[in-house]
Amino acid sequence: MASAKYIFVTGGVTSSLGKGIIASSLGNLLQARGYKVTIQKFDPYINVDPGTLNPYEHGECYVTDDGAETDLDLGHYERFLNTPTSQANNVTTGRIYYDVITKERRGDYLGKTVQVIPHITDEIKRNFFRLGETGDYDFVITEIGGCVGDIESLPFIEAVRQARWDVGENNCLVIHLTLIPYLKAAKELKTKPTQHSVKQLLEAGIQPDILVCRSEKPLPNDIRKKLALFCNVQLNSVIEALDADTIYDVPLLMRKEKLDERVLSKLRLPSKGEPQIDDWREFLGRLKNPTNEVDIALVGKYVELPDAYKSIAEAFIHAGAHLACKVNVHWISSETINNKSVHRILKDMDGVLVAPGFGERGIEGKIEAIRYVRENSIPFFGICLGMQCAVVEFARNVLGFTDAASTELNPETEHPVIGLMEDQKSIEDYGGTMRLGAYDCKVSKPSKVYSAYGSAKISERHRHRYEFNSQYLKEFEDAGMKAVGTNPESNLVEIIEIPEHPYFVGTQFHPELKSTVMKPHPLFVSFIAAIVKNNKN
Ligand code: GLN
Repeated sequence: MASAKYIFVTGGVTSSLGKGIIASSLGNLLQARGYKVTIQKFDPYINVDPGTLNPYEHGECYVTDDGAETDLDLGHYERFLNTPTSQANNVTTGRIYYDVITKERRGDYLGKTVQVIPHITDEIKRNFFRLGETGDYDFVITEIGGCVGDIESLPFIEAVRQARWDVGENNCLVIHLTLIPYLKAAKELKTKPTQHSVKQLLEAGIQPDILVCRSEKPLPNDIRKKLALFCNVQLNSVIEALDADTIYDVPLLMRKEKLDERVLSKLRLPSKGEPQIDDWREFLGRLKNPTNEVDIALVGKYVELPDAYKSIAEAFIHAGAHLACKVNVHWISSETINNKSVHRILKDMDGVLVAPGFGERGIEGKIEAIRYVRENSIPFFGICLGMQCAVVEFARNVLGFTDAASTELNPETEHPVIGLMEDQKSIEDYGGTMRLGAYDCKVSKPSKVYSAYGSAKISERHRHRYEFNSQYLKEFEDAGMKAVGTNPESNLVEIIEIPEHPYFVGTQFHPELKSTVMKPHPLFVSFIAAIVKNNKN
């Protein structure tokens, strides 16, 4: 076993307490002390990965450089730590069983009966330790999805129990994130649900080392003492996690509660002085004291669930803070937009982003929104399907191909300006078969995109099947829509731009996936900067 320390984060009482944010905040503080950290998530559902899930289920699907389709918490890990994750950082029950069953079919178990313990738990542990064994990390933080007590997370919890023995006491700890509800009528914070959830962990053989307690109100000392006594943890290991203004406040709240110090002392590691969090504080300062304000419409089809566009929303926060500009994102369902309503809906917007997506619903609304912003010189940014819709709109209304479409939506069109690549045509499976992960892109100058990146060679992440149909490229370019980013190997069009427009950019890739607090994405920064400039004119 390599020298990495393993921290497991479990959840109790209810889901949605923000295990991902707590894990990310702790990772951030340890990193700020000079330690190398990675965070991984183990999800109890049976899908092999979240790529086939509807965004209404668990929010957006986050894509890593190596093309893994993963849980959106990996986005938080990257945004907080500013280091990339990979397939190894997200494992589901489905993947564990898939791998065990594949081994069984291959005869690897030599005739043994294959069982949850030890075969499934061994496979889980192999994955727990995989990143630690690379020698690249001092800490591997593992977030266990779901709540303790759920039937489906039992094998993960059992594997955590075993893992403690495998790596030894000083190399492993368990943080339990729980809720301390406040009962208004009684004017009291209640510890009982936490006591019960810790009991459930104890039944599974796990004594949590640290309790992180989500609460709307500060935890008075008597409540902390009660939690320590009944849950069998040290008083200073009861950590308060108050509701915060933004998720980016949480590292500072955890610092105040000394979560990082407790972790280091329990794992017998030196504190290496104070964590270097000045840059983070500066970011928060700019975020909270903006000097400008803009209104941006996010036109999409899953707008009732903001988690479906998590990375886009966060990218606006990073880029907005960078420019000390408050970005008010207005979530607009593309289904409400048509030729009659478009002016009313978009007239007060300073800029419009058309979101990624799949399928037919809401497409015509997206195209109508794009016509409106193109004709009215309102800054526009289209991502993936948003870029494809911009191409279709231009083909219909500028090139005059009235039936132009993407073949995803109209396979019979005479003008398939967006179509399938040859190597996608024969694919029948839905899981993991899109164009996924990081690809290089060559950016041509002069262009707004080049000025934004300040570089001709970039790499961005993809998740789509359909592409710009290069047979039409000349006609588009002659009419004023330029391909300013192309794949250096396949020549596929990755970025389009209308140079004559104040800001009209569409990307086939997903820039939002690479935006972090410390490295806001250049295209989000340039989009907001263009809006600010446009508003001044
Ligand atoms: N549905 C489109 C495609 O598959 C766009 C996908 C997306 O927006 N991520 O190409």
